[in-house]
Amino acid sequence: MDYNKLADLLFPNNKYTVEDVEKMYPARKLPAGAQVVRFAPSPTGYLHLGHFFQAITNKFIALQSNGVFYFRLEDTDKRREVAGADKLALEFLEEYNLGPNEGLTINGDIGDYGPYRQSERGEIYRAYAKRLVEKGRAFPCFCDAPEGKEEILENREKMLEETASIMEHDPCRGLTFEEIQSNIKAGKGFALRLLSPNKEGDTIKVYDLIKGEREIPANLKDVVLLKNDGIPPYPFAHPIDDHLMGTTIVVRGEDWFSSVNQHIDIFNALDIKPMNYIHTPLICKIDAETGNKRKLSKRKDPENNVFFFKEAGYPNVAVLEYLLNLANSNFESWRVQNPQADIFSFPFSIKKMSTGNPMFDLIKLNDISKNVISRMTADEVYNSVLVWAEEFDKDFAKIWKDNKQKALGVLAIGREGERPRKDLTTFADAKTLYSYMFKETLSKQNLLGFDEKVDKATIKEFLTKYLANLDLDVDNQQWFNQVKEIAGTCGFATDNKEYKANPTAFKGNVADACALIRIAITGTNQTPDLCTILKILGKEEVKSRLEFVIGNL
Ligand code: GLU
Repeated sequence: MDYNKLADLLFPNNKYTVEDVEKMYPARKLPAGAQVVRFAPSPTGYLHLGHFFQAITNKFIALQSNGVFYFRLEDTDKRREVAGADKLALEFLEEYNLGPNEGLTINGDIGDYGPYRQSERGEIYRAYAKRLVEKGRAFPCFCDAPEGKEEILENREKMLEETASIMEHDPCRGLTFEEIQSNIKAGKGFALRLLSPNKEGDTIKVYDLIKGEREIPANLKDVVLLKNDGIPPYPFAHPIDDHLMGTTIVVRGEDWFSSVNQHIDIFNALDIKPMNYIHTPLICKIDAETGNKRKLSKRKDPENNVFFFKEAGYPNVAVLEYLLNLANSNFESWRVQNPQADIFSFPFSIKKMSTGNPMFDLIKLNDISKNVISRMTADEVYNSVLVWAEEFDKDFAKIWKDNKQKALGVLAIGREGERPRKDLTTFADAKTLYSYMFKETLSKQNLLGFDEKVDKATIKEFLTKYLANLDLDVDNQQWFNQVKEIAGTCGFATDNKEYKANPTAFKGNVADACALIRIAITGTNQTPDLCTILKILGKEEVKSRLEFVIGNL
């Protein structure tokens, strides 16, 4: 067959040749060692955790190597496109300080290697498609629905039976020039397929920067290069774009690894040297129904949507730290040695990237989040809670603002020193954890949560005496001495040694007496320093809460 003639028949009106295109994308001038990486999501909905994980990996590789991190939108599948998904992803990256410095950015498209939206690159793909036809490496397929639809499947089925082959070569492979020409004349559309050169049993070696060399079966499919609407699916767009845009490392999920043999075939057909790959591990969990480990699912797992973490009130840095923990095995020890260091100064290393699929571990994230919040100042926490509430809980935002001084007061308790208090796991926790501070969220019923440890009559006696002597114009030590004195008159031990020697002789010790005040005022037995809480609430409020409790006992 005369392939040049075939190429002209199939692509009579191409705007560019491959040579024209190559001229439009000169090699980047970057310092030695600088890596060019990219984030290339398809705009099919929310940003999911796997992609976010890859964005973090990309960003750190670019930062570490003084390289380029660009955003390319893989928007060739218009049926699955969700309007605004690109903007959402960009805003999210920006919020986490992971914004790209080229391609789609929050300030519009930037850079000399665009267009960065695949839907605007049709002429470029067509140049390479035509070249492959000229080289006899691609052929048109006229099946009505070329991708996985019945007719073609049936044909393949037949071929399987006849040849006992698992090759997926397309039935249109053998069309003559005349047959193709008459199809074109009849106005039939076509998909373009790669003529796969491999045979069963062939293998190829793929090098992955974190997993090393892996031997896998060669591709046996006549992969679709252009669909019958002229648009390329991922396997054709990826080699062309990453080649032209100067990508040095393709970072993508391990789920792409199974089709890397197709991509290598296309690189070879195009005479382009493949760039380095990093196939990142997939974040997994144990399936509640089957008990098996599986990757996070769009359908089943809310945490697969990165928005989940924002809505739950996790600090961005905590989510980043958690994912860096999964990405780089030396992150944790670095954080212990550098507790205050800016996270972006972490020396991310490709060599230290984990290879196994990690489990999503909410307990670990919570732990990191508590540490992150405990390192913030009271003002920072106050503001972060407000930002969270203004987006997710407007009523609480109002309460938080109206009670700013109280909120700052309770946040400040125990924040200084080597071992700061770690009661908040998320910013959302402030609402429930400190609900007793605000009249609007305090349920008076909760103030009656005493357990059986001390009998009701003693509780009443003690609280009544405490109310009668209520004095908050004292320092914390004086306050404690007052409580101790009152407790002593109600049968509590004022000397711990005496109490330990003979606990049944007493109603409890001074800590038990304090707990009665704590529960009466806050409804919980877990609060930061009680005397400070009482002072923040003020004498009138404390008095009214005590009166309510005493009256209802
Ligand atoms: N568009 C592909 C995806 O959304 C990108 C894979 C890649 O990074 O190359 O998964």
